[in-house]
Amino acid sequence: MGGNPGGWLGVNLKPYETNIMMNDCWGRVCDLLKGDIGKDAFQNWIDPISFLNAELGTAYFSAPTSFVGTWVNRNYGDKIRLMLSREGLDVERLVFSVEAQVKPQAVTAVRPSEAAVVNKATGSADLPGAPLDARCTFDNFVVGKPNELAHAAARRVAKGGSVTFNPLFLYGGVGLGKTHLMHAIAWDIKERNPNARVLYLSAEQFMYRFVQALRFKDTMSFKELFRSVDVLMVDDVQFIAGKDSTQDEFFHTFNALIDQKKQIIISADRAPGEIDGLEDRIKSRLQWGLVVDLHPTDYELRLGILQSKAEMQYTHYPEVVLGSGVLEFLAQRISNNVRVLEGALTRLFAFASLVGREVTLDVAKECLSDVLRASDRKVTIDEIIRKVADHYNLRMTDILSPRRARSVARPRQVGMFLAKTLTSKSLPEIGRRFGGRDHTTVIHAVKRIQELRSVDNQIAEDVELLRRMLEA
Ligand code: ADP
Ligand code: MG
Repeated sequence: MGGNPGGWLGVNLKPYETNIMMNDCWGRVCDLLKGDIGKDAFQNWIDPISFLNAELGTAYFSAPTSFVGTWVNRNYGDKIRLMLSREGLDVERLVFSVEAQVKPQAVTAVRPSEAAVVNKATGSADLPGAPLDARCTFDNFVVGKPNELAHAAARRVAKGGSVTFNPLFLYGGVGLGKTHLMHAIAWDIKERNPNARVLYLSAEQFMYRFVQALRFKDTMSFKELFRSVDVLMVDDVQFIAGKDSTQDEFFHTFNALIDQKKQIIISADRAPGEIDGLEDRIKSRLQWGLVVDLHPTDYELRLGILQSKAEMQYTHYPEVVLGSGVLEFLAQRISNNVRVLEGALTRLFAFASLVGREVTLDVAKECLSDVLRASDRKVTIDEIIRKVADHYNLRMTDILSPRRARSVARPRQVGMFLAKTLTSKSLPEIGRRFGGRDHTTVIHAVKRIQELRSVDNQIAEDVELLRRMLEA
């Protein structure tokens, strides 16, 4: 390499001199980059970042958003390192941090026209969407009852062909796998057809780009770009509720693509009809194709996911030993949100590998006490009282009343038992909430239900059913 024999890095310079040198070096790299990647790409991606400094083999940059930083690192990182070293600054790593204070009006301006031109110029199928997570493939998606329909629909859409669902609308609560499925579809389509122009982005990014286009009075290019894709995926579309002009633009983009028979995939946290602040015409368009929901995970799916994720963890931490019953315990006690489940497992493996101990049930409980407490908080005493009253055809006030008739007293005891086992509330607190009763009454109730569960099938079933409903 041209290098810099005896160059300025080898010389003893004062800090400010080093700084000037480094800035000059970055300036030259910028010139080179402009020639290499083209003026448009340069303006889109390199202009918005600033060189901060370099030390110990790392060059530090600030970026207006983490998205820009990640993008630059992924797409131009190697080039930048090479050019820096040719200009005399040897670094192994580029680190991008988001500026603490970015004036909302400044820097991040990405002109849609330029983005579009970049794509035409390079002829690549890369579109200015959000990056796809390599782990979110169909292979890594565990299928169970609650998500089998959504999974089947996603597979079908990825495969394309004559039977199409357009748009495919996926909805469900947080952490149930909507984004995972969308990325899986994108990977699958790209694998089948590497030239397919697949654009995945969040509704927030859609709006951001649209606002930029308005600011630069360049909505034509915005329209062109979005209408030139083969597959458009917009994640978390509930975000544009109440944002009228973005909705309007979304509606037109949507129609144009559907007219051209291009596939659209949308996700939201609710069904189209339930998104307040979304125009009726959009709600109805969103229901044209196929609307499928991801149901809250059940115990079996959670266990399946944990087993699959544990296998992946073993590849990083082959030395870890998980005690029996640990995964079952987590599947039972940790909430619906798969992200929380994953986080818990990651922590367990990291912890186990660090301390070199087998992860017994007790170790797991200790290591995850905060996570467990947080999911405990999910079931409230009010919910328990309501569900118990419903189940036994009583009113909530019956449960709280002083009545001691068996038909009321037994359900009340079941409620107290559930409150004790499903929440972390103290005995006096539980007593208070169940109509101002003494904590000894709660102790008695818990004991009684425990005994009855082993001899009275009906009670055992009631408790199990209620527990499942409350934990779902
Ligand atoms: P959402 O977009 O619905 O909020 P995500 O798709 O981001 O949820 O999922 C949260 C996390 O859980 C991701 O890491 C995802 O890979 C994982 N996940 C969700 N469902 C499954 C599943 N069925 N199998 C494997 N991983 C899953
Ligand atoms: Mg998501």
